[in-house]
Amino acid sequence: MRLVQKFGGTSVADLNRIRHVADIVCREREAGNEVAVVVSAMAGETNRLIALAHELAPEPKQRELDALVATGEQVTAALLAIELNRRGVPAYSFTGGQAGFRTTSSHFRARILEVQAEHLVRHMQRGHVPVVTGFQGVNERGEITTLGRGGSDTSAVALAVAVGADRCDIYTDVDGVYTTDPRVEPRARKIPKISYEEMLEMASLGAKVLQVRSVGLAMRYGMPIYLRSSFVDAPGTLVTKEDQTMERAAVTGIAFNRDEAKVTIRGIPDRPGIAAAVFGPIAEAEINVDVIVQNVSEAGVTDITFTVPRQDFRTTLRIMERVKAELGAREVFGDDTVAKVSIVGVGMRSHSGVAKTMFETLAQAGVNIAMITTSEIKITVVIDEEKLETAVRALHEAFRLHEPAREEA
Ligand code: ADP
Ligand code: ASP
Ligand code: MG
Repeated sequence: MRLVQKFGGTSVADLNRIRHVADIVCREREAGNEVAVVVSAMAGETNRLIALAHELAPEPKQRELDALVATGEQVTAALLAIELNRRGVPAYSFTGGQAGFRTTSSHFRARILEVQAEHLVRHMQRGHVPVVTGFQGVNERGEITTLGRGGSDTSAVALAVAVGADRCDIYTDVDGVYTTDPRVEPRARKIPKISYEEMLEMASLGAKVLQVRSVGLAMRYGMPIYLRSSFVDAPGTLVTKEDQTMERAAVTGIAFNRDEAKVTIRGIPDRPGIAAAVFGPIAEAEINVDVIVQNVSEAGVTDITFTVPRQDFRTTLRIMERVKAELGAREVFGDDTVAKVSIVGVGMRSHSGVAKTMFETLAQAGVNIAMITTSEIKITVVIDEEKLETAVRALHEAFRLHEPAREEA
């Protein structure tokens, strides 16, 4: 088999962890597999570097931030190669640029355009182990770019696709994808196998165990991801195409996100083009609007409420004050202490009453719902951040997610 193995920050947190990673790499190699490795920076290192930059300047240039944070991954890649070499394994570290990662020009949130990794394949075929820095690439000007927080997952999947790997193994500090974040609900249960679609929803709705884009990429190219622990040797979670052997409960998992703020613009004269007038300037500011609710027009006026990432709350309010004046709306207000909770499951397509159970459960738990949005395989509610943990635990219980899922009758 040809494998790409990715090790996250906690898995390479110190030299002992790096030695242990070398054990895992050697194990796969000795089993006769061709292996390439992608590493993250040591746990906490990316945050430490960003904080250093901000001690010097409130708004450091993103070009320099990228140059700075990319060093974190370079340290671990070189250290792992050094340890592998000590054991007699021919390993070579590569920066993102050296490994062939070409990205868009936008710093700090670059997207991968292509990975030219033929030279890495030649190494792998000779039994060498390329150790590639995750999270980074170079743009058309040759500048270092990074792929957004958690981006090493995406580097790993992109590399797996580029070298034609059979699977991408992502090693982390949990032994799989759980029904919800085990830090919030200790009774959460490991899901042995999950579809790309569900994992994509879980990740985009806040389950940061995998970066969303890594899942999108894996789905597009049919690359299986095996999420597993570098701390305990236990079976992990296979993220793959939906199939008959997957669990068929209505709800597969619960995702949540605290990083939310909600903004309302009220009393907008209702006429064609108002949504464009409201959301156009926000899009221009590169702010991602998420949940949107527009009220039914009453007496020619309407309200729109939407959510944005919490870090963009102040900017969004400023933009909305301007829009208010332009449209002759009545008022703008917001709340940056909200959170989003979602239930996810392909089984929802064939189960009725899931929404009813969700809303009744939240009502009984005393959780007020501010906004609701649904798709075929998820239901999302926006609630007070204070009630987040209560809501997650109540829903986990109501959908009996701590019990092994039963097959549909
Ligand atoms: P790494 O540094 O290896 O990339 P991350 O911290 O990015 O690791 O992701 C692993 C963490 O994701 C876990 O420690 C866990 O707290 C969190 N997490 C959130 N939702 C889930 C979930 N549904 N299943 C498992 N882990 C989850
Ligand atoms: N080191 C980067 C981060 O902390 C990328 C990653 O770990 O995936 O976001
Ligand atoms: Mg991560």
